[in-house]
Amino acid sequence: MFAHSSPTLPDVQEGGKHDLYIGRFAPSPTGPLHFGSLITAVASYCDAKAHAGQWIVRIEDTDIPRIYPDSEQHILKCLDAFGFESDVEIIYQRQRIAIYESAIDQLKQKNWVYACECTRKILGSNHIYTGTCRDKQLDFKDQAIRIKVSDQNICFQDRLQGQHCSNLHHDLGDFVLKRRDGIINYQLAVVVDDYLQGITHIVRGSDLLDNTERQIWLGQILGYPQLEYMHLPLAMNEQGQKLSKQNLAHALDTRYAAQCLLDAITALGQAPVDIDLPARMLAQAVAQWDISNIPQGIHLTGIYQ
Ligand code: GLU
Repeated sequence: MFAHSSPTLPDVQEGGKHDLYIGRFAPSPTGPLHFGSLITAVASYCDAKAHAGQWIVRIEDTDIPRIYPDSEQHILKCLDAFGFESDVEIIYQRQRIAIYESAIDQLKQKNWVYACECTRKILGSNHIYTGTCRDKQLDFKDQAIRIKVSDQNICFQDRLQGQHCSNLHHDLGDFVLKRRDGIINYQLAVVVDDYLQGITHIVRGSDLLDNTERQIWLGQILGYPQLEYMHLPLAMNEQGQKLSKQNLAHALDTRYAAQCLLDAITALGQAPVDIDLPARMLAQAVAQWDISNIPQGIHLTGIYQ
């Protein structure tokens, strides 16, 4: 008789909290892929693969009015040209609205959400919502939906940025999960999909650092497990501005894929790789991946700004 052997999982990774690693790259098609997003793609990919994990691409396109024409095709074309391959079929959030609605139903049943009729005009420039509609018991139809937050500190240990805390009640107030126009907010879609896709580790730009506590809060209420976070330094242009679609960062050109990839790998403080086919360059970057080399800031000059 053969002894029963149980399936083996990869070794327990950093922090010992997860014995497997599923990471993701989740671009919003609000503009073409630029060098800053390539840095996030490289870091999330290398970190996942260096942990013998999976890496998933997800298109975050719930905010239909902000979708920039053809940017989704550009992002996917670039990822392909840069040698990236999602380990599971790519999902598109705009096709998953019913799933997010059912998460809202779950929260309604537990009385965690309420309808809010406050318009932008009423709220003015005050960024902290003071709970005006919390006890009004408004009908949900055609109103925004907000989730209640509580007066407590939420903290997490970021793998690069150290401890980060927020008291959502003081810093933000009850926040919107679904807008009046019916658009599902990024915060809800990201938390639900990270859970449903079994994501264990998030690697993304530091511009999303301040969103993390509200995502942790939402995840806790929905009963999802806590994730590991790593927020990368932002790529800045010569004027010290964040490289973004708003600052008209250059769309990447797939004709120069190998050079761009090398530049993204070295911008992350990693040892250079040999110019080769992009997939092989990525494999070398994975083998050399060391997060202790990631710099605190990334300053770009020349063509990538
Ligand atoms: N879709 C978001 C963006 O493109 C990123 C979401 C995330 O990584 O959590 O900025």
